[in-house]
Amino acid sequence: MAILITGGAGYIGSHTVRYFLDQGEEVIVVDNLQSGHKELVQTDKFYNLDIRDKERLDKVFKENKIEGVIHFAANSLVGESMTNPYEYYHNNVYGMLCLLDIMRQNHVDRIVFSSTAATYGEPKNIPILEDDETNPTNPYGETKLAMEKMMEWFDIAYGIKYVSLRYFNAAGAHESGEIGEMHNPETHLIPLILQVPLGIRDKIYIFGDDYPTKDGTCVRDYIHVMDLASAHYLAYKHLLNGNNSEIFNLGNGNGYTVKEVIESARRITNHPIPAEIAKRRDGDPAVLVASSQKIKKVLNWNPQYDSLERIIQDAWSWHNK
Ligand code: UDP
Repeated sequence: MAILITGGAGYIGSHTVRYFLDQGEEVIVVDNLQSGHKELVQTDKFYNLDIRDKERLDKVFKENKIEGVIHFAANSLVGESMTNPYEYYHNNVYGMLCLLDIMRQNHVDRIVFSSTAATYGEPKNIPILEDDETNPTNPYGETKLAMEKMMEWFDIAYGIKYVSLRYFNAAGAHESGEIGEMHNPETHLIPLILQVPLGIRDKIYIFGDDYPTKDGTCVRDYIHVMDLASAHYLAYKHLLNGNNSEIFNLGNGNGYTVKEVIESARRITNHPIPAEIAKRRDGDPAVLVASSQKIKKVLNWNPQYDSLERIIQDAWSWHNK
């Protein structure tokens, strides 16, 4: 029996594919390569298709013995979602509708879903718990929340069980250096910082230093991409064992400021990495830190690479290559 991974050519998707392959699982990847990269896919069982193409997606289910789905295929940039909500609703929400419908028709009833801390919006409490209020402040978070709710109703009506993983800030790379983060354009803090020692940019801009945090810069909870990957595996096994649908946060529970991240990158790369204060970026909450107690308790998830140094070191090894 095989596992279908949609969006398996993306950053987190490709690392999850690698993790499942390393556990001896049979993995099939579907990706439209809109933002994914074929060279990150470490299995031959690859279909270049859009999940909204239901006819072709159905064929993938008919040609293979699929016992469950890990669903990454989606648009995932907050800023882009603000200017192009049509695309986000179409790809994310309608895409999920197509996928769940084909799953239902083919009697596949388990799905692990790639969700986000953006479903919470501006948090009222830190650390954030799974049953805290969800009030997204951008179309990206809004569509991911709609996708979660769709799964909830499909569970009630059709018995499709799901685990939704709400990620905080994914970073790092596989320790082999074979796969890593590859966004174009790059918008994320750690790869942007590393572009300075790589000579791609002169300096890093710090988006705001007047937040109510210890040094005035935003606090985020950085989690190693391979710790995310292992959580998908545990979530999948949870469903395979006949357990109920769940929503889990995924972070380290430790917050680091933008300045602390830059300082750590300076030590690891041995480069001065000049930084300049710029204005705040729209829609950035001051602090986002997860409570991951629930997934630790229910799935026995145990992060292996939970220091900021390790995360930046692995990202550096990849980018430096
Ligand atoms: N950030 C920054 N300069 C940059 C990119 C990001 O100061 O060039 C900040 C951003 O404002 C946020 C944090 O770094 O507080 C992490 O941003 P990122 O885009 O990596 O992830 P997000 O938290 O938006 O998911």
